[in-house]
Amino acid sequence: MRTRRETVPFDRPIGLSGVRLNTFVTRCSKCGAFEIAIPNLEGLHQAIARTLITKQARLTGEEVRFLRKVLGWSGADFAEHMGTSAETVSRWENDTIPIGPQADRLLRLMVMSRGPVSDYRKLDLLKTVARAKPAAVRMLAKAGTRGDWRVRSDAA
Ligand SMILES: [Zn+2]
Repeated sequence: MRTRRETVPFDRPIGLSGVRLNTFVTRCSKCGAFEIAIPNLEGLHQAIARTLITKQARLTGEEVRFLRKVLGWSGADFAEHMGTSAETVSRWENDTIPIGPQADRLLRLMVMSRGPVSDYRKLDLLKTVARAKPAAVRMLAKAGTRGDWRVRSDAA
């Protein structure tokens, strides 16, 4: 058994073409069996997700699927959050139709707004906002003593 740093393909396990890892690999010189060390898998997923959301080109199907999984959502959950149908999500993920520019941007924003520790409630708002009719909200903005403002509203 020998352990050393290597660059190894990782596209299959992670479901993303062209992903390679540079990490410690332990190989058995007799049978060729090997083990890739993957410390902090969650951190790896987050780092890849941060890279994907800054790419210039539209997200591919496998990237959409990867980001959806990083967000911890099923296809149905994701469809609900994106304000679309599960069929559409499935078509995006299978590259049957490309994700639209607005949906692409929304997905990136959702990943961006979600740190390693998530606040589901903020994102859950997105599920309902698009369905509600446009309506003004009544607000009272109260000036504090240090230039701070506190806003009270009747927004649900
Ligand atoms: Zn062996």
